[in-house]
Amino acid sequence: MMSGSPIQDSAVVTHDAPASIYVARSLAGALDALGEYGTAGAPFAGGTWIMRSPIRHQPLKTHYVAIGRLPELTAVRISSDAIEIGATITHAALAAALAGLPEFAGLAAAAGHSANPAIRAMATIGGNLATSEFAAADCVPALLCLDADVEISDRRGREHLSLTDFLKIRSTLAPGRLVTRIILPRTERKTAHVRLPLRRAGDYPVAIVSLSVSLDATSRVQAARIAVGSVEATARRWPRLEAALLGRPLDATAVARTATELTDEFVGRDSVDAPAWYRVSVLPGLVRRAAIAALGS
Ligand SMILES: Cc1cc2nc3c(=O)[nH]c(=O)nc-3n(C[C@H](O)[C@H](O)[C@H](O)COP(=O)(O)OP(=O)(O)OC[C@H]3O[C@@H](n4cnc5c(N)ncnc54)[C@H](O)[C@@H]3O)c2cc1C
Repeated sequence: MMSGSPIQDSAVVTHDAPASIYVARSLAGALDALGEYGTAGAPFAGGTWIMRSPIRHQPLKTHYVAIGRLPELTAVRISSDAIEIGATITHAALAAALAGLPEFAGLAAAAGHSANPAIRAMATIGGNLATSEFAAADCVPALLCLDADVEISDRRGREHLSLTDFLKIRSTLAPGRLVTRIILPRTERKTAHVRLPLRRAGDYPVAIVSLSVSLDATSRVQAARIAVGSVEATARRWPRLEAALLGRPLDATAVARTATELTDEFVGRDSVDAPAWYRVSVLPGLVRRAAIAALGS
């Protein structure tokens, strides 16, 4: 891709322009540019996935719209009943913003332990959610456990979808549509996020388990959400294990035993990092660690 002169915040965008990166100065400007570029363009957030496109033998887009500096998308708003996270918040900034909020310990761990410090200072939560091909994204399972809603904007307006519904449509998200915010309801719960990298901190995890539980006055599980990442192509919840937890004390050994009985619902994905069977076989151990971490949160 030619870097050329960056196109400034202008309404004039042509389809036959050379490869470019357009540094948007406002959300409206970014949405206009994305709408004009259509399938030839895409958002450029932290760039940590896009920059590795050649390694994955994936073509780059002709035009990118840099959204990392938009003030509308870089805030975390914390109120008594919800948290709103701007899509270009970096993993590092998100982990820092959530420090001291125990109900979000799982998400803080996901954002604060992904990749390595240099990547966490660049990678954004919006990019993490929007990248369909990235099975090992840490924030996706963590957010699935928190009833996250996703705000999507384009030139015509914005809409909210549950994260589960967003994951179903994200690979076919129309050009010009941007993830702009993630909204999390606040409620008393214990959360945890555990991941298994094979060799070192910078590796993609071979499997991820995120967990969120609400306990009643007798410490029995009232509500449970468990999500698994990196094992299949897209992170998803584990409804049978969630159901098995209800009404019982959260006992890490017992939960891991139940998980062992229920792993047959995961198919697993083969890759150069790890075979499918291995990704599935480590799940009970990760569930156990997640339960221990949640109880300590
Ligand atoms: C070596 C390495 C290891 C890593 N390990 C991990 C890890 O273990 N766990 C982890 O979670 N992350 C990891 N990452 C970071 C990972 O790349 C990012 O978490 C994330 O998936 C991409 O975020 P980004 O902001 O860099 O997106 P970009 O690279 O800018 O964009 C990625 C894709 O999303 C689209 N996009 C970006 N923002 C939006 C938006 N707001 N709306 C719609 N589409 C959008 C882009 O057009 C592009 O298609 C790693 C990165 C590297 C380089």
